[in-house]
Formats: sequence, structure tokens, C-alpha cells
Amino acid sequence: MILEVVKYGHPALRKKGERIEKITPEIEQLIADMFETMYAAKGVGLAAQQVGRPLQLTVVDVRGATDRPSTLEIDGRESNVEAFMPIALINPEIKPYADPVAGPEGCLSFPEIFADIIRPSMTEIRALNQKRERVDFRCGGLLARAIQHEIDHLNGILFIDRMKRSDKEELKSQLDELQAQTKEALKKK
Ligand code: ZN
Repeated sequence: MILEVVKYGHPALRKKGERIEKITPEIEQLIADMFETMYAAKGVGLAAQQVGRPLQLTVVDVRGATDRPSTLEIDGRESNVEAFMPIALINPEIKPYADPVAGPEGCLSFPEIFADIIRPSMTEIRALNQKRERVDFRCGGLLARAIQHEIDHLNGILFIDRMKRSDKEELKSQLDELQAQTKEALKKK
């Protein structure tokens, strides 16, 4: 089922996600719905907060973004990114490393808003995946960027929090308008 993606101004986006203690059939359904929602919106990642559920859960699939390469290392060995996708990350722990680099980002909760964000170029991740397997990997490129963006969501952090001040100023009227629209729509519910 395709879920509603909540937009900037929705309180769920500012909530820290609760740890998932047990992968129940309901959580499995949520994961399936989040994948479906992400693909329908043509996103490369979606966090549970973005469907109004503040949990430590995100889904990622970078295969659609063929112009922005990713790297993957599992057990110290270079691995195939495509074969590793799609992936759900449950209760992820993240350790970014390597030099910060700027790269373009958008967010399904901020339609039509894009900016360059500076983040470490590589990161190590530990999590449970959708098959309840423990995964431990290092990644770079778009995959590292997407995962850092999504794990920020799990902590209530949004990409506007990491934007350069001048970019955020420039986008201010768009951001204010989006926030006001979202709040107005919530009042009517
Ligand atoms: Zn986002």
C-alpha cells in the first residue's frame, strides 16, 4: 500500500524514532509499504518518520540513480551495490568517516527543494535488515549520502538543518510556505 509522505511542518518529522524491539508482522507490512511508497515517489530513501511513524527504520535503494555512483565494502571486501539493494535498516548505528564532501540532496518531505549538503564521504553502518539479518558494512558515494540523510530523519534531523546558511535564506519563503501549508492541512484533519 502506498502511504502518505508527510511534509515539512508535520510534527512526526521532528521526533526521534523509537527502537524496534520486535519485528512483528505489522512492522514487516510497514517495511513493504515504505518500499512501495519510496518507489512510487521515485526516491532513493524513505524514513519511518516520513510516513508519520517515528521508529528506527528506514528503507534505501540507490539503483535508480545511475548517474551517481556508490561504493560498498562488506567484511573488508569490495561488494556489489546493486546486489545489496534494496535494503531496510532497522535500529541502525552509524559511524561516518572520511573527509566531508558537498553533494546535492532533496527530500520527499520537501518537494521541489534541493541544496548541496556537506557530509562525510564514507560511513560504516550496523543494523538489522528486512530479513532480520545483522548487517555491518561500509559505503561511499550516493549510498553513504542517502543513508546519512535517512538516519538523520530517524533522529528528527532534517537536511535544512545542515544547509549552508545562505542556501537556507534563499529558500526561506519556500520553506515557510510549505510549513504553513502542512500545518493548515493538519488542522483540517
Ligand atoms: Zn529526507
